Amino acid sequence: MNLAAIERNCARLRAELRPGASLCAVVKADGYGHGAVQSARAAQAGGAIWLAVATAAEAAELRFAGIAGCLLVLGALTPGELDVALGADADVIAWSEEFVAAVADRAGEAGARVHVKLDTGMGRLGTRDPAEADRVAAAVLAAPRLELAGAMTHFATADELGDGFFPGQLERFRLWALALKAEHPGLALHAANSAALLRDEAAHFDLARAGVAIYGLDPFQRDAGERGLEPALELRSWVAALKHCEVGESAGYGRRFIAQRPTTLGVLPLGYGDGVRRALANNADVLVGGQRRALVGAVSMDNVTVDLGDPRPDNAGLGAEAVLVGAQGSERITVEELAKRLGTINYEITCGLSARVPRAHHRDGEPVADERARAAAGGRTGS
Ligand SMILES: *Cc1c(COP(=O)(O)O)cnc(C)c1O
Repeated sequence: MNLAAIERNCARLRAELRPGASLCAVVKADGYGHGAVQSARAAQAGGAIWLAVATAAEAAELRFAGIAGCLLVLGALTPGELDVALGADADVIAWSEEFVAAVADRAGEAGARVHVKLDTGMGRLGTRDPAEADRVAAAVLAAPRLELAGAMTHFATADELGDGFFPGQLERFRLWALALKAEHPGLALHAANSAALLRDEAAHFDLARAGVAIYGLDPFQRDAGERGLEPALELRSWVAALKHCEVGESAGYGRRFIAQRPTTLGVLPLGYGDGVRRALANNADVLVGGQRRALVGAVSMDNVTVDLGDPRPDNAGLGAEAVLVGAQGSERITVEELAKRLGTINYEITCGLSARVPRAHHRDGEPVADERARAAAGGRTGS
């Protein structure tokens, strides 16, 4: 994981913001698989004033690692989770008067900061009724130790360029939120995710909550490079064994590869146990020796096989680097390419990397301090 890329992506996104708006870096789901703590620090170095997570435990993890600054929990919370979120000095989101009462009850001496959520069309969290949202805001204001910190919504279709639903959501939010802000000028209004940030300055308000884009992934599932964003993640393995196949010899479960010509397979020691999805069998390329090689046969839990050809090039031998995501020589495989092959979105690919994949964090190739020891220990699969 190149933390310098996250830092530059944040700076790049901030440059896109309307004057006066701040960046909130979303580091939920372990920073979309990139490592929450390291991503949060990199985002702060890149100028993100706010951090957001989905759950109370994620907020506690950041604070435990010593991360300071404004922190927002985006998700719904049980009473127990509310205690954890407030204990982590995180802001929470409310859309009912009952929840505000629970926050007031549990906030203690230190108090709590609350953001009110209007559902303008996402159809999940938040109230659809602006009058109810106003009552929730009033309940926050009436509670002695609560602070009304923000008013927000979330877009359903910001990533579908040119759709007609997004402008309506924006307008419903604007009407409600600007009236509330006129009465309470200290409120932070926020609506945009990465796609909305990149799509429409009118959605920026005071704060934009960008997740996927800070990691250099494209919210529109195209090439993030077109938007000046750099992918932070690489997924690398190595050729751990070579297996020559004559015509008719097979490899892997179900004999899903049977050699039609003599060839040499490289065995890479990672599989669906690491988050390399099974549906990539006979449906992906891996870079070895600077060239695309077909991933052939089944993806098993701990191994995949790639076709290195015959004769096998010298630079694709035992120990050679194998890149599943990232660049090698002049070739590059993006998360978006894998997502397309799997009929999913880049978010699901990076979130799906399992805990077994060692995360190696660096800054443009320089190991970051607490990673030096691990790099010296010689881990060969990593991201
Ligand atoms: C995850 C999330 C975001 C970030 O979305 P991206 O598309 O990754 O930028 C913003 N707001 C809310 C409420 C979220 O849940």
